[in-house]
Parts: sequence; structure tokens; C-alpha cells
Amino acid sequence: MKYLPVIKLEVKWYPILGYLVFWALFTISCKSKQFSEADKVQVQQEDMLKEGAAKENLRNLELEKEQAIESYRPSAKKDFDILHTDLDLSFDYQNQVVIGTAELTIKPFFYPSKELVLDAQDFELEEIFYQHRGNLVSVPYDYEVEKLHIHLPTELSRSDTFQISLQYKAFPERNTGGGSEAITDTKGLYFIDPLDTVPDKPTMIWTQGETAHNSKWFPTIDSPNEKFTQLIKLTVADTLVTIGNGELIKQEDLGGGLRKDYWEMKLPHSAYLAAFAIGDFGKVEAAWKEIPLGYYVEKGYEKGAAKVFQHTPEMIGFFSELIGVRYPWPKYDQIVVRDFVSGAMENTTASIFMEELRMTEREAIDSEMDYIIAHELFHQWFGDYVTTESWSNLTLNEGFANYSEFLWNEYKYGKDEAKLKLIAETESYFLEAKTTQVDLIRFEYDNAEDMFDSHSYSKGGAIMHMLREYLGAEAFYEGLKYYLTRHAFENVEVHDLRMAFEEISGQDLNWFFNQWFLAKGHPELKFEVNYSDPSAIVISVEQLQDLTKAPLYQLPLEVSWYEDNERKSKEFIVNKASQQFELKNELPISLVLLDEEKNLLAESTLARSPEQMREQFRVSQFGIARYEALDSLASWEAVTELESIIDEALEDEFWSIRESALSILQGYPEWLSDTPELAQKVAQMAESDERNSVRAGALDVLSSFSPDSYYTTFLTLAEDSSYLVASSALMGLVSMESGKVGLAEIERFASERNFRMVIPVADYYITQTILGKGDWFIEQATRMSGEGLYYFLGYFSEYFIRYPEEGESRAVDLLLDKMENDTRSYIRLGAFQGLLGFGTNGEILTRINDVAVKEKDSELIMYYKYFLESSDEEN
Ligand SMILES: [Zn+2]
Repeated sequence: MKYLPVIKLEVKWYPILGYLVFWALFTISCKSKQFSEADKVQVQQEDMLKEGAAKENLRNLELEKEQAIESYRPSAKKDFDILHTDLDLSFDYQNQVVIGTAELTIKPFFYPSKELVLDAQDFELEEIFYQHRGNLVSVPYDYEVEKLHIHLPTELSRSDTFQISLQYKAFPERNTGGGSEAITDTKGLYFIDPLDTVPDKPTMIWTQGETAHNSKWFPTIDSPNEKFTQLIKLTVADTLVTIGNGELIKQEDLGGGLRKDYWEMKLPHSAYLAAFAIGDFGKVEAAWKEIPLGYYVEKGYEKGAAKVFQHTPEMIGFFSELIGVRYPWPKYDQIVVRDFVSGAMENTTASIFMEELRMTEREAIDSEMDYIIAHELFHQWFGDYVTTESWSNLTLNEGFANYSEFLWNEYKYGKDEAKLKLIAETESYFLEAKTTQVDLIRFEYDNAEDMFDSHSYSKGGAIMHMLREYLGAEAFYEGLKYYLTRHAFENVEVHDLRMAFEEISGQDLNWFFNQWFLAKGHPELKFEVNYSDPSAIVISVEQLQDLTKAPLYQLPLEVSWYEDNERKSKEFIVNKASQQFELKNELPISLVLLDEEKNLLAESTLARSPEQMREQFRVSQFGIARYEALDSLASWEAVTELESIIDEALEDEFWSIRESALSILQGYPEWLSDTPELAQKVAQMAESDERNSVRAGALDVLSSFSPDSYYTTFLTLAEDSSYLVASSALMGLVSMESGKVGLAEIERFASERNFRMVIPVADYYITQTILGKGDWFIEQATRMSGEGLYYFLGYFSEYFIRYPEEGESRAVDLLLDKMENDTRSYIRLGAFQGLLGFGTNGEILTRINDVAVKEKDSELIMYYKYFLESSDEEN
């Protein structure tokens, strides 16, 4: 699964300080001196206090350990094994009900057993039949909301295979059960606009099983360590398209406008990976070798889908070759749906994606969706073919999927782009690590959903990379091949991965796995470099992480330097709390670079002067090191050094450095007025840089520098085929001095539907006080969705707050509706933020409160509370 980018809430939590104060009180040391009587009494009292503290401390430790046992989450115990699942499903759109018949082929796993327990959430059941050796009998059962206990007529052994068949109705909308009660992303099956009442919104059904939500629509053993083959029959209107796992083996005309589609999975996979989608989809067909590929999207977006997913065949080939295991399934479909609850989900052979991947052909010019396409595709091996045995080992799915984004970037776009990805991931982990540091593989958690964090994804991915660098690429990929082949169609835990690498490389890796996978924290390295003898430089390193919580790490440290543009390097092993390395060299060295390629997952500090950073920028052959240098100089506001390299930075071969240089330039417009050649260069970049995001950045510089001088550039580029470019050019026009651009010139773009174009128009209407646009704002907000809507809602509110006569009450109604009903939590948040602008009116505030109390998302509840309480205080 790929989570949506999280819009971070600004409410902070502080650790409870009481415990620390307690310790401070009892650790005041006693000075050595002659004892008086009063001193003796004091010492006795201190001893008693110390004893009390020790007891208290012991009790806390006991509680902590008891808690650990209580919240231990084992892999699901296997009492029975489902061999095959056969489902026949139809749908009541009116009541949002799944009407099903299920026949499960089952055997006891090891021990003889008489009671079968299945997961079946929010079902209504009738008679249940048991079939064994040809006899079909009705069997008694107990059912309560989530668990179905079936009492078998006789005790069965593991050599017995039997069938259970039942008819049922499933009510995913009831969505009860478990720790994640009523969270909207646990319904398992979603009816989207079921009665086609929402304009512009297609009717669809799609499913989302991870973690244990597929038992909301079929009876099963809903644990990742349960695998079975399946046949899913879907009865639908014959105008609709269905997509399921495996192969479409039959389509049966039922008459009366109905059709039954048979989707068969001949290879076993886990319950959470079963899936289907139903809708009026358009399909783009492609292929990798003889494997058929389908890109499904709402009709009218097929050309966009062909572009968005265009690298899929190349990716399948690349991954198959890289890991030495051919794509293991008979087909691969990718389906773009509405209102998806996460970024995307790797259902076997049928990945489902959020609507951000639904693009027009023009929008797809700037598509940057390779990352998520690679992520779900790599899961087809790591996750679907070989599956974590429990959520505790989730990084065996997600760490690999995350690392695939790096691997694809490295292959397709080069090392620098791959490293940029890795740095973004490690930053996301470090951000999370500020408040949460837990073992990567962990058996204690409240809710399985908690495992889907930056530890499992980003830290996991960064560790896979360090392992590749440590073992060497060849051993690493051979190890992966061994691991996948050895455990094909099975479940794994982290030791299986370690043993695969040990088997191939012939070396012990316990130490590596212990410090990275089975412990918490990360290295915090403090470096110092002593250049006083340039032929024998001394590098000191200290590990500063809290050793009571985190390991003392063993790490390879690559030290590099340049002699006449030729790169030299030497590797040292960091394995002490504090140590020094001497770097001897025949020629004097003026600058050493530590981990120049940024391979380590470590927070490092090293004092460097702006001159040294500029030197790093100038000499390093690695884009990521030049990027780091430029970024540091910018954050230090090292004006002299920045100005001296800005020209080179604008011409850097790595687009990300050109982009950074442009954003630095926005802060120093005087450089452009001082140096006309620089302004010319930026204008040239706006016209013809090979990357559209750089062109857009160049236009942003021109808009903030002197928009009126670039009127023609903006006017021309506002028509560019790339929305990134056109949007920045349009923003340039909007930024021109008041009155220079006429309403008609902007109005030409008012019918554009892409949010990048809508926002500059909205900005113009707001800042130029263009009245009579209430309907336009309402129409946009009604039509838009996803990320674009989130950004637009700020402009939307602003317009009606400034010009309430344009329809304030309509605007408030719309925002309240979004806040109450949108399936995306960040849209509900955006609507709430917009509403706060209207909040001085007591009646509106009451209505906001009324909607806020219905919110089920814990982060949003916290956020609402924080702002509503502070606005109460203000009033
Ligand atoms: Zn994933």
C-alpha cells in the first residue's frame, strides 16, 4: 500500500516531564564530609528516599514488561488452512449490500479440530453447509458481528479436506468492529456514488483489503499468513467492466442486461490481496512479452492513462531482470478509481490507484507518478509473491516497495535522481523519529494500521540500500533472487531475509539485522576534521545516539577527496563510541568529503565553512553532494558564496540543482538587476530548459523580479502544453502591476479545468476585486477533487470572506458539506481551515462544531479541538 502524502498537523505533543523531575530530585549527589547528627538523619532520610525510588523504578519496569507481553502481536495461529475460495457476488446498489455465495475448501492445519473460526464482518447469514467425502449437511454455527464459529460434525485431521458453503449478505457500510472502529478506510468494499446522484461522478465499486478488511465482503481467515487460490464471479450490468485478480476466464450473458464475469487466480495469495473493481471504465491495453497489461480509467482519460502508465512494460522487464525472478503472475492491471482511501494498493495482478493518476493527455505531460507505479509493481514480488507473515514484519513488504522507487529512478533517470528520492525518504523517517523511535520489526502495537509508518516504509527502504552497498550489488540481487525463489507463494519473517543473504554471500549478517531491523533509533554522528597536517588529515567521529535505547553502530564510512578533478576514496569502519582515523596521502588534501554519496542512514554533524561548502559544490561529481552544498549555503544565507556559484548552479546537469538555484534567486532579485546576463539566462531557461519544472521555476523568478518586463514571455508561455509552465506564466500575468493585464486576458483561462490554471484565475479575481464570480468559485469547488481541491479551498474561502455578497451562505454550506462528507481527511481539513475564516459569526461556529463532533479521524479530532477551543477563547 502506498500512503498519501501526509499533510502535517501543527499540534505538538510534549513528553510528560513528571518522570524526569522525579529522577532529578533523587539523583542529587551527596558531598563527602564529616557527618554531624543532623547529617546522619538526613542521610537516613535520603537512603529511604533512594530505596523508595528504586522500588518505584522496579515497579515501572515490571509494568512496562507486563504491558509488552499483553500487547505482543503474534503471527496468526494456523488452526485451519483455506486452500481455495469460490465466490459468487452480486450487488444491491440501493442499500450498498453485497449478496454472496461462498464455497471454501479447507483443511485443518496440523492439530485435529472440530471448530472452524472464520472472519466475517457485518454479515447476515442463513444456513451453512458442510461437505466432506460427498456428504452435504447443514451445520450449526454461532455468529457475532466479526467472527463466525462453525461447529463441524466430526473432529477432522490434517489429511481431511472439506467444503463449507454459505449464502450471505455483507454490509460494508455498517463498518463496525475492532480497534479501528468506524474509521472510513476500513470498509473493505466501497460503493462510489451508488445511485449516480452526484454530477460528474461515476458509479463504481472497488475493494481495499489491507490490513484485515476483506472479511467485510467475504468469509475468510483474514490474516496475511493465509494463502489460497480463488475464483470470483461478479454479476454486473452488461454495460460495466470488471477487473479482478488473475485471469478473466469466462463472461456469461445472464439476460436482462446482466453478465457474470469469472476471475480466476490459479496461484495462491493472501486474503488481503483479493480485490476487484467494477465501473464504466475505459481500458488501455499494453503488454510485456506475453503478459497482458491493462490501464483502466474513467472514460475520456484513456490517452492520459496511456502516458501516465507508459513505463509499466519497461518497469516489469527491468525488475524481472534485476532480481532474476520473472514477473510471477499471468497479467497486470492498474485501475484508477475515485475516492480511494490511500495512495494505491498492490492487489495481486490488479493494483488500484487514487484518482490523482487520472489525467488528461495534457496533464500527463508532467506526470510524476512513476514512483507509485513502481512501488505497487514491485509489491507483486515483495508482498504478493512472498508475503510478510504478520504486520510486525511489514517492512518486508513496504521497505522493498519503497526501495523500488529508488531502483527505478537509478535505472531510468540516473544516480542523482535516485539519491534525491532516498534523501526525501530518510528525511521523512528522521521527522517521524523526532517523536517516535521504535524497533523496525516490532511485535507490540495497538493497531495493525500503526505499522504503516515511515519506519516500515522509509527506514526500511534506506536499510535495503545500505545492505546493497555493504554486500555489493551482485550479492544483494542474488540474495533477493534466492529469497524470492525459496519462499515463493509463502510467508516470511525478517530472519528469512537475513538467511538468504547469508546463504548467498557466505557472511554472517546478524549484527547488521540486529542493529537495523531489530532495534530502534539511528546513528547520530558528530564528525570533526583536522586539516592542520594536510598530508595526514585526522577525522574524528563520535556516536551520540542514546545508547540506553539505540545500538552502538558498525558502519562503513567512505571518505573521499579530489586531486585535479580525479576522485579518490578510502573506507573506514566506524564501530566505537568515539574514534579517530588518519588519512595519509602523498599530496596535501584541502577538503575531504564524508559519505559524499549519501548512502548512510545517519544524522551527521560536521562543522564546515561556507568556503568549504562552495568547494564541495564545485568539485563533487555527485549531484546529491552538490545539492547538499547549495542547500546548506542557502540555509546559511552565505550570500557571497552563493552569488559566486549561482551561474554554475543554473547550468548544473542535475535539474534539481537548477531548480534550487532558481528558488534561491527568488530571494535575491537584486542579482538579476545587477547582472542583466543572469536575467537573460533565467528568461532563456523559462523558454527552453529540458525540464518543465525548471521552466516553471524560471517563470516564478521572472514574476517575482519584474513581471511587467516579461509580459510577452508570460503571454506566450501561458499557452504552453505543459500545465506546470502555463500555470507559472499565467501567475506571471496575474502578478503584473494592477491594471496592466485586462480581465479578458485572464478570463480566457477561466474555463480551464486543471487546478494549476484555476488557481491563478482565482487569485486574479480575489486581488483585482472581480465581482460576480461566486458561481464560478462554487462550480470549481464542486467539480474539483483531491490535491487540487485542497489548494483551491483556500482561495475559495478567501473570495467569499472578502465579498460575502457573492454568496457567503452557499460557500459555507459547501465547505461544511466537504468537511462532513469528503472521504479524504486532508480535504475535510482544508474545508475546516477555510471555514475558520468565517468563524466570527456565532451561527457558523455552531455549525462547524456540529460537524466537528462527527469526525472519526483521531488526528483531525485533535486538530479541530485545538482550533475550536482557541477560537472559543477569542470570542
Ligand atoms: Zn506499499
